[in-house]
Amino acid sequence: MNPELLLDGLNDKQRAVVAAPQSSKLVLAGAGSGKTRVLVHRIAWLLQVEHCSPYSVLAVTFTNKAAKEMRARVEALLGSGAGGMWIGTFHGLAHRLLRAHYNDVGLPQDFQVLDSDDQLRLLKRLCKGMNLDDKTFPPKQAQWYINGKKDEGLRPKHLDAFGDVIEGTFIKIYQAYQEACDRAGLIDFAELLLRAHELFLNNPFILEHYQKRFRNVLVDEFQDTNNIQYAWLRLLTSSDNNLMIVGDDDQSIYGWRGARIENIQRFLDDNKGAETIRLEQNYRSTATILKASNKLIANNSERMGKELWTEGDAGEPISLYAGFNEVDEARFVVGQIKEWRDEKGDLKDCAILYRNNAQSRVIEEALMQASLPYRIYGGHRFFDRQEIKDALAYMRVINSRLDDAAFERIINTPARGVGDKTLGILRIAARDRGQTLWQTLIQLLDESVFAGRASTALKGFVQLINQMEQDTTELPLHEQVDFVILHSGLQAMYLAEKGEKGKARIENLEELVTATKQFEKPEEAEEMSDLTAFLTHAALEAGEQQADEFDDAVQMMTMHSAKGLEFPLVFVVGVEEGMFPSQQSAEDPTRLEEERRLCYVGMTRAMQKLYLCYAESRRLYGQEKFHRPSRFLKELPAECVTEVRLKTQVSRPTQFGRFSNTSVNESFENTGFALGQRVNHVKFGDGTVLNYEGSGEHSRIQVHFDDQGSKWLVTSYARLEKL
Ligand code: ATP
Ligand code: MG
Repeated sequence: MNPELLLDGLNDKQRAVVAAPQSSKLVLAGAGSGKTRVLVHRIAWLLQVEHCSPYSVLAVTFTNKAAKEMRARVEALLGSGAGGMWIGTFHGLAHRLLRAHYNDVGLPQDFQVLDSDDQLRLLKRLCKGMNLDDKTFPPKQAQWYINGKKDEGLRPKHLDAFGDVIEGTFIKIYQAYQEACDRAGLIDFAELLLRAHELFLNNPFILEHYQKRFRNVLVDEFQDTNNIQYAWLRLLTSSDNNLMIVGDDDQSIYGWRGARIENIQRFLDDNKGAETIRLEQNYRSTATILKASNKLIANNSERMGKELWTEGDAGEPISLYAGFNEVDEARFVVGQIKEWRDEKGDLKDCAILYRNNAQSRVIEEALMQASLPYRIYGGHRFFDRQEIKDALAYMRVINSRLDDAAFERIINTPARGVGDKTLGILRIAARDRGQTLWQTLIQLLDESVFAGRASTALKGFVQLINQMEQDTTELPLHEQVDFVILHSGLQAMYLAEKGEKGKARIENLEELVTATKQFEKPEEAEEMSDLTAFLTHAALEAGEQQADEFDDAVQMMTMHSAKGLEFPLVFVVGVEEGMFPSQQSAEDPTRLEEERRLCYVGMTRAMQKLYLCYAESRRLYGQEKFHRPSRFLKELPAECVTEVRLKTQVSRPTQFGRFSNTSVNESFENTGFALGQRVNHVKFGDGTVLNYEGSGEHSRIQVHFDDQGSKWLVTSYARLEKL
């Protein structure tokens, strides 16, 4: 193949990186400047022009989606398969290494990956078992503590509380948790990285093998690597390896999870001859979107400094919508998406980005009402649903009796008369004997510790699991799952659950069977059983199974998960003080800068058109909150932004001081009142109209009074005065 073809569609600077002689380098550049594109072309160049073996390539990306895309792009460039390369996330790659070398790190062959939900459950149980007060030692905090330490590469034995009782207790929890995981053959996400690091650290021969093999290591989104990931890379790459790292300090958004921007500087210090290349031309966004994003990020002080420019058109201004509340915000977004679709736009080109997963529900409802298909990445994933976890837990116990987390989940689901007391005895015995729950159960049954109903129930459970294993070993995976859903009693249990919810659960279980049927074992999972490969996929997968990859659906995700992606039409919602930036980060300059970077990431996902939305009142976690527009909005250049007005609008002063336009709302039929209208009540004082229901004489109106909170009033008696 003509090498020139691999340089097509690249600018001079990008070409220089792609065709550079083999050496270590850092590409430091802003959003949309082609970093990922350069990385993909570089891989193709190494294979095609430098004749490197695909086996010599290890590429790390941030999400499973990005990894899949990267492989596809390399293959498209080469015009052939890219077998033999390792492309994946740090976690995925660590997992692959551990499967190959489980023995060398002291793991059982059938170790299972524990997702963060299960991790929290396990911790809750442990804390309870240790009689710890969950106010002083919230399990969630223990989870943060443990994962944080693991990200730093620290085991309990490395920790010293120096007499601090609280810290000392967290160390004890960490210790007990780790013992429980080790007994049960469970490994959490942070542990994957830590063990992979220990694998290299403690096994020089294995390390040498991989150092020799992976001559070419390429890392995308480097600004978000944490200490243990960096340490792992450092071990893997000696001076003979070519390490190319690609990143943007302005897009470092995982500091809260241990990511270290300083790793960029560390890389330069550790690789003295490494060259730094900066790319400054943006190819993604319109000039307007770019200008606004540049202006926003310029407010951060801790920057390595770079300016992006584009040859592209100014494009449309950024639209700002002041929703009256979160429902109104969602309705607006959906309305715009409908227009986009009516003008023949694809739904998959629209992305709705939010700060927290909890914000998605209201938008989902609005999308459903409008019959617009959507797909959520991350967050409440398909595999996180209760019924799916139940079914998978059965599969996991059938696969490995050691799996305590799964055991706990199903021992009394469906209810079989194993009460808390019985379970308590079992847990204590397991702890005392230092064994798994299953082993202990078998022994206690032998020792006739349980009597009556409990004994029958427990024996029945043991028999059920053993029998199901026997009956399904020969079946293909999807038939196994189907069999287990039926014979475990889960199907009957969920069929008995009335209403929409029960129906949805049954549908989800059916969907699980479909998912296993469609599941294709990835190349790196070749040596695993189908079941282990699928269970791993379920634990590591970021919700990509939910809808068909090729379905035309609106894309929904947090700004964190949108990293590296791009969409023609982007909505960033909930841009309010208290939400974005969040309350806590508003008070801490370091965290505030990270929130601003997150906003920069969100905005720079947009190619053609960007909407920024906020709600003046928002019900979240059961509470109604009134928020001011985010300070980030005020940091945007006024000439780049216009406020949206709808036809049904009623004038009212907007809270967004700098823009003089008024905001949007629909007025209630014939009442003269509108959502968001300011009113006065003789007794309750001034307030804002929140909601309205019914008609004529029976209609009621909800007002949030400044001093008295929200009240529902009968409209005809309330004698509200418009302000
Ligand atoms: P991010 O920081 O968001 O990850 P990035 O720097 O990785 O962004 P890419 O995703 O690689 O940027 O590129 C952004 C867009 O610009 C892509 O659509 C890419 O195909 C396009 N692009 C990159 N370089 C060029 C070029 N030289 N000519 C035309 N298009 C380009
Ligand atoms: Mg990228």
